[in-house]
Amino acid sequence: MSLTFEHVTLGQRVLFGTGSAAANLAAEVERLGSRRAMVITGEFEAAIAKNITGGIDVALHYDDVAPHVPIEKAAKARAAAAEHGIDLLICVGGGSTTGLAKAIALTSRLPIIAVPTTYAGSEATNVWGLTEDSRKTTGVDDIVLPATIIYDAALTLSLPVELSVASGLNALAHCVDSMWAPRADPINQALAAEGIRALAAGLPLVKDNPNDLPGREQALYGAYLSAVAFASAGSGMHHKICHVLGGAYNMPHAQTHATVLPYVLAFNAPAAPEAAKRMSAAFGTSGRGATDSGPADAVAGLNALRAALDAPKALKEHGLAEENIPAAVQLILPAIPRSNPREVTADNLEQLLRAAYSGATPGF
Ligand code: NAD
Repeated sequence: MSLTFEHVTLGQRVLFGTGSAAANLAAEVERLGSRRAMVITGEFEAAIAKNITGGIDVALHYDDVAPHVPIEKAAKARAAAAEHGIDLLICVGGGSTTGLAKAIALTSRLPIIAVPTTYAGSEATNVWGLTEDSRKTTGVDDIVLPATIIYDAALTLSLPVELSVASGLNALAHCVDSMWAPRADPINQALAAEGIRALAAGLPLVKDNPNDLPGREQALYGAYLSAVAFASAGSGMHHKICHVLGGAYNMPHAQTHATVLPYVLAFNAPAAPEAAKRMSAAFGTSGRGATDSGPADAVAGLNALRAALDAPKALKEHGLAEENIPAAVQLILPAIPRSNPREVTADNLEQLLRAAYSGATPGF
């Protein structure tokens, strides 16, 4: 079969180095010619930012960050940036903090330097999100893509193990969904496979010892790859499910992704044997089972990783009420991309959600 595809690579500078964030940040601020930077952090991220911003002039420290970027918080932050004559946005934190910087950039066109402290990956995408009256709107605009990402695994040491696991599995979900999302192509599939390998190698080390820097580095590197793959491939079935659950039932982002992922993998893998083979190779489980089958090995790989990580197991433990499942099915069904390798019906989707709700062992 001929190899034909269209792929867009987003332009970003990525500086990766443990213990180098302060120096890399000072150099980037200088390179971008900024004189009036706004440093954006959430409550738990302010101390991290303080340690790395000593070498730069900061015109405004801003910490009014909330999950999913409420529109009122965006308006307030935009006004603060304008009032202080800001020429550069520096966000230090997780996806919520990066999201607020993107909201400011969307209207001001200011450049962003992103310094991530979780594995959410928003720093490597051109996707923005805003929430109004409990409804989240997302959009795509290259103006919100951070000009530079500064990765420093030491900044993630304070991320509690449980959140590290959930956030890392959220990154893994970007990789898995990139295998069959609407714009899946050989380049983002290659990035996704390497992302799975790095996350599967790093996260167990983080789980066993949260201070393990090589493990944190692998997880952060995998998180970056996962986000690049996701930005290119778009949202697949898994993200459509989690978007509805998060928005309609106010469920926690990372934990919802971590819980739903194995059920989507088990659902799609038999209909996507080539992708499954790549995933099982990345998990290191190809040919390990008696079956020697990509789909079974990929599911076994993810299940084994989740067991090692003591990953979140059941949606009922994260705020989903069982009686909401039929309504959730109706909301999710129209959003499932046509690229999905297996046909999704109200019946099989409801079965998937019921299994994820109760925490039944994912398989087929
Ligand atoms: P988050 O940013 O809300 O962070 C979770 C919690 O961890 C917060 O309380 C935060 O202060 C704390 N925290 C962050 N780093 C820490 C550290 N190193 N040590 C201790 N505490 C720390 O959650 P998240 O999972 O990083 O991001 C989720 C959000 O990002 C969602 O709104 C999601 O929609 C968005 N997101 C957007 C994209 C995109 O492409 N636009 C991609 C992924 C996620």
